[in-house]
Amino acid sequence: MGFERAVVTGGAGFLGSHVCAALLKRGTAVTCVDDFRTGSPDNVPEGVGLVVADVSKPLDLLGPVDLVMHLACPASPVDYLRDPVGTMKSGGLGTLHALELAKRKNARIVIASTSEVYGDPLEHPQRETYWGNVNPIGPRSVYDEAKRFGEALTCAFRREYGTDTGIVRIFNTYGPRMRTDDGRMIPTFFSQALAGEPLTVHGDGSQTRSLCHVDDLVRGLVAMAHSDHPGPVNLGNPEEVTVLEVARRVVEVCGSESEIRHVEPMQDDPRRRRPDISLAREVLGWEPRIDLAEGLRRSFDRHLVG
Ligand code: NAD
Repeated sequence: MGFERAVVTGGAGFLGSHVCAALLKRGTAVTCVDDFRTGSPDNVPEGVGLVVADVSKPLDLLGPVDLVMHLACPASPVDYLRDPVGTMKSGGLGTLHALELAKRKNARIVIASTSEVYGDPLEHPQRETYWGNVNPIGPRSVYDEAKRFGEALTCAFRREYGTDTGIVRIFNTYGPRMRTDDGRMIPTFFSQALAGEPLTVHGDGSQTRSLCHVDDLVRGLVAMAHSDHPGPVNLGNPEEVTVLEVARRVVEVCGSESEIRHVEPMQDDPRRRRPDISLAREVLGWEPRIDLAEGLRRSFDRHLVG
């Protein structure tokens, strides 16, 4: 089953722009809703309709819609720490308005949640049944708790109105169209390595991350759109590496002489992150195909742009 018309909120951002392109390629008419607070009109693929709007205000779109992909929300710590209230509004009210749109249009809606709902996890790897360990009042809580609210609201719409909802919990993803200044690990390391500057590792670098290439992730998001599963479903790459190891590999891939510099640990930075993707394998037939070595090589070839 294909979709006739999809609305992608946050379609001018990193993940959203790839989602727009993937849906377009499948013959779906795509409308992107974005206010460019962390995205750029340059990211929106040709052929995608553009509505410049803030999703924390009610959304009114004319015509039929059979799929809503809701990704609008600042996602990098640099962005959401700069705009804490705006982030809560985007993650909370934005999700309300996306759900109301899907309900009105009788559309399937996929909500981009995050591995951050697991906080600093006490269970490892993280399965969807784990309730998380989030500091509700720390600086990062504006993002984590907005996403947790978004999940609860999504479940409420499904229970009360029968809205066809799906929640995905996305783990760290990287690839082309990330901003080099957005503070996330891979673009930061690449820009430092390519400039010959020291790579800044927070703390001792023994904290782990699981990094998924955007092409794999978007395949998972599209599979979720086509399923009728409510989720939440983890989407991420279970290959777990320390942050220090990632820094070393980026230096190697870039052929750089940069050294590694340890800086202050980030507050509430999770120690370990690795998705259990058994559910995604079972209900979506999905798993990543691009390992970190290959993904970093591709990122270097593209210099994270294009
Ligand atoms: P991004 O910052 O590149 O993209 C977000 C987009 O949403 C931007 O274009 C921004 O302008 C837009 N936006 C934000 N608030 C808005 C608002 N109130 N109204 C209209 N537009 C708004 O981030 P991304 O990495 O592409 O993340 C996309 C989604 O995926 C987010 O919901 C994020 O929480 C989720 N996610 C991403 C990752 C990841 O590793 N990239 C991991 C977990 C979850």
